[in-house]
Amino acid sequence: MSTTDCIFCAIIAGDIPSERVAETDTVVAFRDISPQAPVHVLVAPKHHVPNVAAAAREIPEVLAEMAIVAQQVADAECGGEFRWIFNTGPSAGQTVFHVHGHVMNGGTLGWNA
Ligand code: C5P
Repeated sequence: MSTTDCIFCAIIAGDIPSERVAETDTVVAFRDISPQAPVHVLVAPKHHVPNVAAAAREIPEVLAEMAIVAQQVADAECGGEFRWIFNTGPSAGQTVFHVHGHVMNGGTLGWNA
């Protein structure tokens, strides 16, 4: 499922360009357009759900696949170690309401990175 007003659905469909670094049948990983760390890749399901809890409820097997893809990205880019952040809700910094995990590493990451 995709929604017409979702920027990540458009990225996943290829209607908006992105630098894709990994893809499976159900998951896409692409570089954040505004990286906040030397490694900053977003891992998102192709199916539109708004946040990580909705993903766990509605597509748990795809959420597990997201974890595997996140690890693969980190293996390729930063020795297999990474921070995986899911912002949930505007007050927590979520700006795109299509669930995505930020895979981050490198530099000196603080909690505000
Ligand atoms: O967690 P949050 O919803 O704020 O994350 C959205 C992320 O999507 C931001 O880090 C932003 O830089 C990224 N983004 C992107 N490409 C776009 C629009 C947003 O990588 N075209």
